Amino acid sequence: MLPPDISYILNELGEDREEYFNAVAPPIYQTSNFAFKTVADMRRAFEDEFNNLIYSKGMNPTVNILRKKLAALDNAEECLVFNSGSSAIFASVFANVQSGDHIVSVNRPYGWAKKLFDEVLPRFGVATTYVDGREIEAFERAILPSTKIIYLESPNSWDFVLQDLRAVADLARAEGIITICDNSYCTPLFQRPLDHGIDMSLQSATKYIGGHSDVVAGVLTGTQTMMNHVFNNAMQNAGNGISPFNAWLLLRGLRTLPARLDRISTTTRIMVDWLKQHSKVEQVIFPLDPSFPQYELAQRQMSGACGLVTIVVHAKNMEEIVTFSESLRHILMAVSWGGHESLVIPRCASLQPEAFDASDPEHRMLRFYFGLEDAEYLKTDLEQAFAKMV
Ligand SMILES: *Cc1c(COP(=O)(O)O)cnc(C)c1O
Repeated sequence: MLPPDISYILNELGEDREEYFNAVAPPIYQTSNFAFKTVADMRRAFEDEFNNLIYSKGMNPTVNILRKKLAALDNAEECLVFNSGSSAIFASVFANVQSGDHIVSVNRPYGWAKKLFDEVLPRFGVATTYVDGREIEAFERAILPSTKIIYLESPNSWDFVLQDLRAVADLARAEGIITICDNSYCTPLFQRPLDHGIDMSLQSATKYIGGHSDVVAGVLTGTQTMMNHVFNNAMQNAGNGISPFNAWLLLRGLRTLPARLDRISTTTRIMVDWLKQHSKVEQVIFPLDPSFPQYELAQRQMSGACGLVTIVVHAKNMEEIVTFSESLRHILMAVSWGGHESLVIPRCASLQPEAFDASDPEHRMLRFYFGLEDAEYLKTDLEQAFAKMV
């Protein structure tokens, strides 16, 4: 069950309806700049752009309502909202490293995080070591005197591999290293990394917060000091804050977040059980299924799991998987997740056809996102596509 203050956060916190004609829905302050009456007021604002309204690249009243709610959901002092999840990753990392520094990242983080570590930061003298995040000893071994950041993603969005957030946070704190966790899979409703001692939590708000596949956005939370630092040392230079209209779409998404996650969790449970007994399915990977290798850790640090499920299918060649994927009539083949519509990504879409190896279970993976449709509707679609595989 959700704590009761979630209802207050989603429906009231940060809103001041008397300021805007008692409108139930908050206004979109579609303005680029804010005017001052006196030079002294303007000077005061320039001294602290984080806490003043000057220009909407920085702060904006619609965005600020959203920031208050998202900070509270994460049990954080402060929050920044970006024009994509990738922007939140970039700003949180970039603001905290300089030439000669070192990062320890969990294996296989989100693709653009990996690109940042592998291709962008090395140009500025920042190196990254990847570790198997299932073992705390792997982090211990990888830490150097120059390590500034430990970067986590728990669960991973393909194989759902977890890290013990508390153990990594304790280790990092003792060494003076900043921890960042990508929490896109869980949202703050199902996991609050800061409660486990992590310094900064980020998520792609494109997924569950937006919830309707119509906005790209990212969220970063942490202490007031850290958010102020990120704001002034990366975010304002990149100019990658969210627009007032997209902030408003996220506010609208937040109103129904618990209801959508409830529905998606129920449907996903039904789909996991159905897939597990299906003759075409070799393995079902889902972090809150007892068969999941890190099931106990998942239960300990997550209060729920949502619509992402990966399966390994029985297939003798890639064509069978292609036929299955292209035969789905309602489940769309597309990236991302968190909207109303169910989705699938076959792993082989990231492989050159000649590289496909049927003996490698990873090549026979498909990742599903189950959305707001009825479970029976989804099963019928999957069944007719499975039937076409041979
Ligand atoms: C989608 C995603 C991101 C990036 O978010 P965007 O809003 O697409 O930039 C980051 N991490 C994970 C795990 C994601 O799935």
